Amino acid sequence: ISVQVSVLGLGEMGRALAEALVKAGHGTTVWNRTPGRADGLVAQGAHAVGTVGEAVRAGDLVIVCLLDHASVHEVLDPVVGELAGRTLINLTTTSPAQARESAEWAARAGIAYLDGGIMARPQMIGGPGASILYSGSGEVFDTYRELLDLWGTSVYFGEDAGLACLYDLALLSGMYVMFAGFLHGVAMVTPAGVTARQFAALATPFLAAMTGGFEGFAEVVDGGDYTVEGQQSLFFSQLGDLVDASSDQGIGTEVIGMVEALIQRQIEAGHGEEGFARIIESIRQPG
Ligand code: NDP
Repeated sequence: ISVQVSVLGLGEMGRALAEALVKAGHGTTVWNRTPGRADGLVAQGAHAVGTVGEAVRAGDLVIVCLLDHASVHEVLDPVVGELAGRTLINLTTTSPAQARESAEWAARAGIAYLDGGIMARPQMIGGPGASILYSGSGEVFDTYRELLDLWGTSVYFGEDAGLACLYDLALLSGMYVMFAGFLHGVAMVTPAGVTARQFAALATPFLAAMTGGFEGFAEVVDGGDYTVEGQQSLFFSQLGDLVDASSDQGIGTEVIGMVEALIQRQIEAGHGEEGFARIIESIRQPG
């Protein structure tokens, strides 16, 4: 079925989302604070309007993808009356608390609300690697599932509107620490004349293979027993050599020292024989 959709916010991401809708044949109305950003979309068949109100009135479904939570309120508060009875999908990155606040705001106004966290770069939208995480109204997710799947793999976590953001930020936490770890490795080898590219050629398959360990850690964490057989112990995981080698290369030790400190705290608490996954307890109970 063809749906009348309005997209508010034509930054890099909003434009990618709108383009996928236009290509799929949905009647697509677009609005952006700064005019001119819609030109490419209009050439492809989108309808550009000059006010938020016109955009809201044109769509059964309103998609918002703005900079942040504050800009969403700035744009939507003045048209809350017109949004009543419509469906709003907010793909702006926010905190879980802000997503819940938006869901409550929408509920008070009679707006069906779904929150989403985009796990992709704009150029990936519509391609195989893109996924978008959703939480909030399950009815909205089910109703528009086919349309949402135009952007990438759609995953729904439940009625708590904050969950998708929480997942999103948790995944990004994993990504950033991994990136920092990779760059630490680069900093270790470059003083020895190895280029970052040479290091990346080895790190890419190695780190990809190491992600195979997540399942095992997850099983131990969910089971809550860090003494189960077959794990690498905390004693065995002491990172002194990594810290020393980093210092010898004349580089900082914050990145690797952070992991060492998490391990050390569990060893000092008497858990050295237990598995590496136990460092989650250092994270859960900040020192
Ligand atoms: P851009 O910086 O390209 O665009 C920001 C958009 O927000 C523009 O349309 C801008 O309008 C608008 N905007 C900002 N402040 C206001 C305001 N006060 N009132 C009205 N409009 C406003 O960002 P992206 O498109 O890349 O990102 C949009 C959202 O998508 C963000 O929440 C981002 O975190 C998320 N996202 C982006 C990813 C990416 O790789 N780009 C990846 C995953 C999520 P104007 O043109 O007038 O400035």
